[in-house]
Amino acid sequence: MIKSPRGTSDVLPPESAKWIYLEGVVREVARRYNFDEIRLPTFEHSELFSRTVGETTDIVEKEMYTFKDKTGRDLTLRPEGTAGVARAFLEHGMAGGPLPRKLYYLGPMFRYEKPQAGRYREHRQFGVEVFGSPSPHSDVEVITLAMDIADELGLTGTELVLNSIGCPKCRGEYKEALVAHLVPRFDELCSDCRSRLKRNPLRALDCKNEGCKLLVAGAPASLDYLCDDCREHWDRLRLILTSVGIPYSVDKSLVRGIDYYTRTVFELKWPPLGAAGNTVCGGGRYDGLIEQLGGPPVPGVGFGMGLERMLLASEKGEKPIKTGGEIDLFIVAPKAKDGQAEDADLQARTLDLARRVRKRGLTCDFDPLQRSMKAQMKQADRMNARFVVILGEEELRTNSVAVRSMRDGWQKTVPLEDVFTVVGEAVRNG
Ligand SMILES: [Zn+2]
Ligand SMILES: [Zn+2]
Repeated sequence: MIKSPRGTSDVLPPESAKWIYLEGVVREVARRYNFDEIRLPTFEHSELFSRTVGETTDIVEKEMYTFKDKTGRDLTLRPEGTAGVARAFLEHGMAGGPLPRKLYYLGPMFRYEKPQAGRYREHRQFGVEVFGSPSPHSDVEVITLAMDIADELGLTGTELVLNSIGCPKCRGEYKEALVAHLVPRFDELCSDCRSRLKRNPLRALDCKNEGCKLLVAGAPASLDYLCDDCREHWDRLRLILTSVGIPYSVDKSLVRGIDYYTRTVFELKWPPLGAAGNTVCGGGRYDGLIEQLGGPPVPGVGFGMGLERMLLASEKGEKPIKTGGEIDLFIVAPKAKDGQAEDADLQARTLDLARRVRKRGLTCDFDPLQRSMKAQMKQADRMNARFVVILGEEELRTNSVAVRSMRDGWQKTVPLEDVFTVVGEAVRNG
């Protein structure tokens, strides 16, 4: 038997109903913030990621699904969303259009990692990007967008953690200080950090190796090396957060494992998920990203949100997402006792009635196999039908049917033509 590849997951009903709900929530909150959806390819030229996410990051060095196509193009299944959005932003001349440009995406991302709870090799992510605004107000706007999604899903008590990692201007001095701290401890670093120390010492800060974590714990912090402009951005950001009443904590060691970030980096944590994986959203500013791709200087800020983890969180939150799993109406239409003609007519009438009910926006089903009355009632039960109508020879003759409320137990006979009105009203009234 062929099984799904390791680290992937099938979403089956009724679980898929939760996904539809979750995706509806993130789209709805994005709409309220006036973000438009952008849909991008799931694979890109590998160079896009090595140039933006960074050659010496874990993502690019270890975690990418990279392959050559039949003509030898070097392609990669996207490991994250921002690089592709930036590529499209530039490719389609959005830099010359009205700014800021607010975009969101929703879709699968691919990383070759060790599968664990809430982490998959193919996972679904929602993310937003604001291009063209250097203002810390935009940092706060994307932060509150993420918080509003969490609120909407019943995750009360999310915690905002912030840091600033500066810009290329102030990073030089900071890198020197960091290297000076790490060089005497060179032999204690893991082999990744040793080989990256010259080219990209900042990566030691997000190394997952326990030994390296200890070594960088006492390292100099980027916050203490900010240039005047970065310092001003950082101060204003915190001032705005305070003035709009959003609590936050500063974690001087917070870095995100991606090279394109500048200035603000942030995470939204939800403690009930447990210390090992309580980050529900991570993001930051990437003011140099468009330039890095050969475009004009266009600042940007955004975040990515893993949807598997949001779903996991919602199960533990105050508003667990329901699986749905009920229908408005089931039409019971048992086989006629004699004669093919009546059967055919009955089936046609059932189909027609179902379609008219459906056109009214209600969920309706029936048994195309025309099993026994008892079996069809069972089916209605299994589908959690709120209402049942029975359509038989007698009903056809009198052109009226009994509508039965499965929840409240009432039953009334109505003209066939009125079924959808009666059921529709009852559904609307709860
Ligand atoms: Zn700076
Ligand atoms: Zn290391």
